[in-house]
Amino acid sequence: MKAVRIKEYGGPEVMSYEDIDIPIVSETDVLVKIAASGINYIDTYQRSGLYQIPLPATLGLEAAGIVEEVGSAVTNFKVGDRVAYTSVPGAYAEYAAVPEEKIVALAEGVSFEQGAATMLQGCTAHYLCKSTYVVKEGDRCLIHAAAGGVGLLLIQMVKNAGGFVIGTVSTEEKAALAKAAGADEVILYSEKDFETEVKRITAGAGVNVVYDSVGKSTFEKSIDCLSKLGYMVLYGNASGPVTEFNPATLGPKGSLFLTRPTLFDYTADRESLDWRSGDVFSWIADGSLKLRIEHFYPLADVQQAHIDLEGRKTTGKVILTP
Ligand code: NDP
Repeated sequence: MKAVRIKEYGGPEVMSYEDIDIPIVSETDVLVKIAASGINYIDTYQRSGLYQIPLPATLGLEAAGIVEEVGSAVTNFKVGDRVAYTSVPGAYAEYAAVPEEKIVALAEGVSFEQGAATMLQGCTAHYLCKSTYVVKEGDRCLIHAAAGGVGLLLIQMVKNAGGFVIGTVSTEEKAALAKAAGADEVILYSEKDFETEVKRITAGAGVNVVYDSVGKSTFEKSIDCLSKLGYMVLYGNASGPVTEFNPATLGPKGSLFLTRPTLFDYTADRESLDWRSGDVFSWIADGSLKLRIEHFYPLADVQQAHIDLEGRKTTGKVILTP
């Protein structure tokens, strides 16, 4: 089968499109013939070595497709089922062996592209606003990179929970997308000082929560956007990792909370995975959550997909097709 592999960490050029054997399923695995793989920012961290993984490796953590084979101990899935999954390495490929516990069934009417666009970013947006900081009616929320894959989903979920959303983006085109997704206010943080703007918009009160996936370039000012007892949710490093921080500063700034969550912990058991993915798929079905799947690349063009994602050229979801 074809797969995208890395043998060393580095830029997009270290990814090679090559032939490898179809994975062998263990007794608890399902072999998925992949129809669509999701590209996520974390794939770039694993490629660059910011997040270290055992090498050589097949990249990709999310896909949807058809069950081709099941291990002898698999009970809930059969050959021919339409499924999706996340948090299992090896999705930039034509086939993946996936533990049954990580698989969810795709409901009638949900396409493979929608499945591959939902599991990682949808479940992330879900845990951020339903578990890490539970958004309540009237909460003021700052969402960075608001027109990105997670960003557009998080805006909608926060709005549906009654929150007031301030989004940040780098271009006018992205601002329009964030507005269309429901953001009450959008700041071009590439042009304006977002802390000053947040203070202006909230009449000095600040926000109850910052969802910050940008990291290095936004972290310090994000903290200064918080109201007393506010939550700083640092969940990514698109501009680079935050490496220095003195927790003592959280006290005088209003007894703030700081957390660095990951999807893996929030979907570690079957109950959490079913809750989050079930909510997200039902919101797509009832129209309360709109997916924007805007960028498709053939598996062979994965280098260009990473160049565009890291170059801030993409919005919404990026999909790879084998
Ligand atoms: P996005 O589609 O949001 O792409 C990243 C965006 O970050 C860019 O489009 C860009 O938006 C913004 N950005 C700001 N500064 C930079 C920079 N210096 N270089 C590149 N991009 C920059 O990606 P995803 O939706 O896949 O992921 C969003 C973030 O969420 C990532 O940081 C990812 O790691 C994190 N994440 C964390 C998870 C967790 O559980 N902890 C799970 C899933 C995602 P703009 O041009 O508008 O600034």
